Amino acid sequence: MHDIRCGHCARKLASVNRFDTLQIKCPRCGTINHLKAPSFPPASREHP
Ligand SMILES: [Zn+2]
Repeated sequence: MHDIRCGHCARKLASVNRFDTLQIKCPRCGTINHLKAPSFPPASREHP
């Protein structure tokens, strides 16, 4: 799980399992938070 927090006031906005990109407006300070998922390694390398 990832906790999504506002980049401006650090208010917790959401918790998500997985996302590619996310855009959430903070209800407290009104900042639009654009988030990009961390780059996951490809899952196809279990058996090289
Ligand atoms: Zn905020």
